[in-house]
Amino acid sequence: MKILVLKFGGSSVGTIERIKKIASIIISYKKKGFKPIIVSSAMSGTTNDLIKKSKAISHNFSASEHDVLVSAGEQVACSLIAGRLNHLGHKSQSWMGWQIPILTEGVHSSSRIVNIHKKKILNYIRSDGIPVIAGFQGINSVNRITTLGRGGSDASAIMCARFFKAQRCIIYTDVEGVYTTDPNTLKKAKKIKVISYEEMLEMASLGAKVMQPASIQDARLNRIDIEVKSSFVKKEGTKITKKKNILSNKIIRGISFTKNDAKVSLIGVKDKPGIAASIFEPLSNNSINVDMVVQNISANGKETDLTFTIKSEDLMKTKRLIKKNSKISFRSLLVDKNVSKVSIIGVGMIATPGVTYRMFKALAKKNINILVISTSEIKISVLVNKKNINKALLALHTEFKLDK
Ligand code: ADP
Ligand code: ASP
Ligand code: MG
Repeated sequence: MKILVLKFGGSSVGTIERIKKIASIIISYKKKGFKPIIVSSAMSGTTNDLIKKSKAISHNFSASEHDVLVSAGEQVACSLIAGRLNHLGHKSQSWMGWQIPILTEGVHSSSRIVNIHKKKILNYIRSDGIPVIAGFQGINSVNRITTLGRGGSDASAIMCARFFKAQRCIIYTDVEGVYTTDPNTLKKAKKIKVISYEEMLEMASLGAKVMQPASIQDARLNRIDIEVKSSFVKKEGTKITKKKNILSNKIIRGISFTKNDAKVSLIGVKDKPGIAASIFEPLSNNSINVDMVVQNISANGKETDLTFTIKSEDLMKTKRLIKKNSKISFRSLLVDKNVSKVSIIGVGMIATPGVTYRMFKALAKKNINILVISTSEIKISVLVNKKNINKALLALHTEFKLDK
C-alpha cells in the first residue's frame, strides 16, 4: 500500500474555507493512488484559548486535566475534515488518540509517542477509508490523555509515518517550507531546498517554530524524510533528511531567534566552590530551564557576577526562588525581559575557521551589543537587546550570504 501521511497545522485548518481547501488536497493524493492518513492540529488560536481558560480557572490546574482540556481543539478540526471528505463522497472518519490507541510515555504536556496500534487504522485504510487522526495527543499507561508539547502534532505525523511505514510524510503549514530565517520577520529570507535533521533540530530548538524540535528528534531516530510545504500555494517545499543526502557548501544554513527570553544577573555573589550549583538547584527542582550562563572571572577572588537566561514566563518564579534561597548571598539582582537570542546554525562551521569572528564583526558594524554568548559544534548564539532583532537578522543574513 502506498501510504502517505499528510499533516495540517493550525492555520491550514483555521477556517471552514481552509478546511474545504485541504480536503481537496487530500483527495488529489487519493486520486493519484495514495492511501492518505491525515493528522490534524487544532484550528489556529484554539489551543491558546484553552490554555488561557485553564489558567483562569485555577493556578493549580492539574497536569492531567490540563491535557484533557488542551487536546480538545484537535477533535473539532478532525471531525470537520472527515465531515468535509464525507460531503465530497469519500469514506472518512476521525480518530482521537485514545481510540487507536496512541501510547505515550513521559510527563503530561511533554509526552512522547512510544507506540501506535495499527490494526484498526490499517483495516480502515484497506476498506478505502481516509482516517483523520488527532495530532498532539495520546494516552499514558493509566489511560489518561496526554499531550506532546506545543507544536506536537508534527511529532504525531512523524510517528504515524514510522508506525504505518508511510512512503512520504508531508507537513502542510502556512509558509512554503523551512526558510533561512522566519520569512514573516525577514522578507529577504530564502526557502531552503534540503536541510539535515541536525541543522533543523538546532534551528527549531533555537526558535524556528515551523517544526517542533522533539518531532525532528523522532524523525532522525527513525530516518523519516519530511517534506514541509504550504497548504495555501502549490509549490515545492523543503526536504528534511539525513546529512548524507545533502550536497551543499553553505557554512551557515539558517538563523533562528527567540522573543521570550529573560536575563537574570546576580551581582556580587560570594566566589566559592559550589555556589553556581546552589543557585541552580532550586531552579532545576522547579523545572525551570536555565539556558545561557556566564560567570565573570572574580577580580578580587571574593565576589563575582553571574548571569543566566530563562524563559520569560519563568521569571517571577525564578526571582522568588532566588530571593528565598538561604544558601546564597549577593548584592543585587537585575532582570531584563527585553532580550532575544539570535543564533546562526550550520554543519559547515565545523570545518570553517573564523565564523565566530565574522558573526561578531557583522553585529559590531551595526552597533549591536552582545550580552551573552554560547556555542556548540554547529551553532553560535548571542543574546542581544530585543529591539535589535531585525537589524541582527539582516546583518547576519548578508554576512553569511544567505540571500543568494
Ligand atoms: P502550523 O500551525 O502549520 O504548525 P506553525 O505556526 O507552528 O505552523 O509554524 C509556521 C510558522 O513558523 C511560520 O508562519 C513562520 O512564521 C514560523 N517560522 C519561524 N522560523 C521559520 C523558518 N526558519 N522557516 C519557516 N517558518 C518559520
Ligand atoms: N494544537 C497544538 C498547539 O497549538 C499542537 C500543534 O499545533 O501542533 O500547540
Ligand atoms: Mg506547528
